[in-house]
Order: sequence, then C-alpha cells, then structure tokens
Amino acid sequence: NQQHAFDVIVIGAGPSGAVVSSILNQQGLSVLVLEKAHFPRFSIGESLLPQAMTYLEAANLLQPVVEAGFQYKNGAVFRRASRCTQFDFREKFSSGWGTTYQVKRAAFDKVLADAAEQQGVQIKYGYTVTAVNFLAEAVEVCCVDEQGNAYRFYSQFLADASGFGRVLPRLLDLETPSCFPVRQSLFTHIKDNIVDENFDRNKILITIHPKYQDVWYWLIPFSDGTSSIGVVVPPALMDEDEDNTHQLQQFISEATELAELTANAEFINPAQKIVGYSANVSKLWGDRFVLLGNAAEFLDPVFSSGVTIALKSAHLAAGLIAKQVAGETVDWQTRYHQPLMKGIDTFRCFVESWYDGSLQNILFFRQKEQGVERMICSILAGYAWDEANPYVADCSRRLNVLKELCS
Ligand code: FAD
Repeated sequence: NQQHAFDVIVIGAGPSGAVVSSILNQQGLSVLVLEKAHFPRFSIGESLLPQAMTYLEAANLLQPVVEAGFQYKNGAVFRRASRCTQFDFREKFSSGWGTTYQVKRAAFDKVLADAAEQQGVQIKYGYTVTAVNFLAEAVEVCCVDEQGNAYRFYSQFLADASGFGRVLPRLLDLETPSCFPVRQSLFTHIKDNIVDENFDRNKILITIHPKYQDVWYWLIPFSDGTSSIGVVVPPALMDEDEDNTHQLQQFISEATELAELTANAEFINPAQKIVGYSANVSKLWGDRFVLLGNAAEFLDPVFSSGVTIALKSAHLAAGLIAKQVAGETVDWQTRYHQPLMKGIDTFRCFVESWYDGSLQNILFFRQKEQGVERMICSILAGYAWDEANPYVADCSRRLNVLKELCS
C-alpha cells in the first residue's frame, strides 16, 4: 500500500527524533514520526549541556524551550567528601552557549515534539515499529497500534531515533557490546526541601562515594522545588533482593554531605533501576538508514552528554538525509560517522578517566592553569567537537599528561 508515502520516516519522538524531523520539515521534506508512547512520558536524562542549545536553535526549537520555564543551568559542582570543585560553563574555552536547562523529560520532550508538530511534522503516537524492509523502491516500515492493528508506511529514508528501544540495531543485528563494564543506576524524583543557602540550584551536583570512586550520585534541581536524584553503582555492590527505594536511600546515607543536604527530602515516586545501559553498534548508517542518539551508541551518564550527542547526531544527519533524498550521493562514513565519533570519543576518553579516578584528581586539583581549566570546562559544557580545543584534538594524550601533573 504505497499511499502512505513520505520522504523520511523517523522512529521515536524523543529529542533526536524531534530535532531531525523539524529540520527536515523546514527543508520541505515530508516527515512521519512513529512514536510508541503517548507524551508526556517519563524519560531519564534530565541535565542538558550548553552545546545542546546550538542544535535546538538550528531546529527552531529553542524558543518553546526557553518559554517553558525550565530550571536554568550554568555549570556543574563535583563533591568528594568535604571537598567541592565547581565549573561555570560561561567560562569555557569554546565559543557558544554557556548556559542551558535542567528539565523533567516528560515536559521537555513534549515541548519539542509539540513544536515539531506545529511546524508541520506528522507524529503518530501509540505506534510501535516492529519490522522494516528495504524494498527496491522504498523503505517499508511495519508497526502496530495499541489495539493491535497493523500498518505499513513507506519512505525513501529511515532515521532511527528510538533511543533505548534501539529498533534498527535489534532488527538489523547491529548491536555490539559496549567498551564499558555493566553499571546500574537507581534514581527517583524528590521534593528536595533543601534549606542550605550555599546550594546552587543552577548547577548539577555530582557526588563521589566516600569509599568507592566508581560509585557516584547526581542531584539535578528542577524549577519547581523538586530534584532528580540517582546513584550509579557496579553490580557487585547492589543487593538484588533489596527494594530499589530503600537501596537508593541507603547509598545516599553513605555520602554524608549529600545525605545532610537532602535530609528533609520526600521521595515522590518509588526509585527505578536501569541496568547495563551502555550500548554500541557495528555501524551508524547503511543504505537508506541512519541511527541517531541512543539508538546508536550510549556511553555513560556521568557528564550528562546523552541528549547533547543525540541532538548533535540529529542535526548532522538531517542535512545529509536532505541531500540523499534530493538525489545526491552522500559519503556517510566521512560526513556522519567520523565527525560524530570525534565528540563521542572525547566524551569516552573523559568517561574512562573518570572511572579510573584520574579525571577526578584532575577536577579536584586546585592549581590548574586557567587556560587548561577553561578547556576542561568546555568539554563539561558539551563542546566535545571543537577541535580548536587540544583536549578534543588529542584528548587521551593531553589527559595523560595532565593526570601526571595532578596526581
Ligand atoms: P529517547 O529520548 O530515548 O527517545 C526515544 C523514543 O523512541 C522514545 O519516546 C520511545 O518511546 C520511542 N521508541 C522506542 N522504541 C520504539 C518503537 N519500537 N517504535 C516507535 N517508537 C519507539 N542524558 C543527558 O543529556 N543528561 C543527563 O543528565 C542524563 N542522565 C542519564 C542517566 C542515566 C542513568 C541514563 C541511563 C541516561 C542518561 N542520559 C542523560 C542519557 C539520555 O537518557 C539519552 O541520551 C537521551 O534520552 C537520548 O535521546 P534519544 O532522542 O536518542 O532517545
């Protein structure tokens, strides 16, 4: 049934789906987004990075985000026992946005998807993609609605923005193991009732466990007096028989300063657990398809890079999809894979040195040269693709040198 034909079909209406579909629509292409959930729906990934603003702006999606009243964010605070170090993103090395937001994703994702829809993107909610077929003339996308009715839609090109759903990696057998060990996360929203006047709601607070350097907590304040709180833990330290909420509370109690800060907090919902979220794929693109955001690779939550990478991938892919649909030959390896991986590899390098402890020493080292501090700050602000920054151009070697200086 070729009557439902589109230039591009996008799987998933999360941040990467909204950005890619908006840009394509603005370029005059017909776009259909198939989304299995109904918005608003919960998602993890609530602290944005300033670099993400660039891509929201490019997709004409920034204004509704600004108007939504999300919690302003200008940096990050890292805490290890009684020591604190903070980064103000406005002091970064790279040019561009120095501030952003901390967002409840239910609201944020709905703002983006609604704005994309108002611009002319067609979104079908409650449609789960179950199969795809690459036919000679078109890509056939099969899905079911909540009543079990089956549908087929056709397009010239398919963008997978299905996040942790990882639709194409599963259907096309593209999944490969992550280079990171399995980690787990427990998290919830709290009415934080924080009374400490020194607490800065404009920054994410990352706290390192007093005993285990690979256990860390996030506290992400929102604009309505609530916060997201979570802990990342290797499986060996988890008690599988223990209730999630109780276990999260137990971990919080072990980090004295965080426990004191949140002493009056009320848990709004039971804690949830995600296990083994790091993921990889054997390729990011193929004949008439591309993987975006979390449907491609997911590293680790520690630097809040997920949404930024998702938006970067959507922005980069949109221009190339438009060219391909217009009949141009696109070299996806050099124009998508390689540029996208540059930033992902920068973050990977930071994540690896976070967990081996060396980056933690660097962040807490007091006598860093100011220029170096600004370069590190840039990457923490998401500017992981700016090759003018030596910590992007040659991340691993630079961090190794710095590690020696700061040890
Ligand atoms: P998603 O936001 O996951 O959207 C995918 C959409 O596809 C969903 O709406 C889903 O319903 C839909 N879908 C799935 N399967 C199908 C299907 N078969 N058919 C149709 N639709 C489908 N990132 C940050 O930037 N900041 C953070 O602070 C942060 N913290 C994190 C903490 C943890 C513990 C974890 C695990 C991740 C965190 N992330 C964070 C990462 C962040 O969650 C993701 O990177 C981000 O949501 C990816 O966006 P996306 O658009 O690729 O996918």
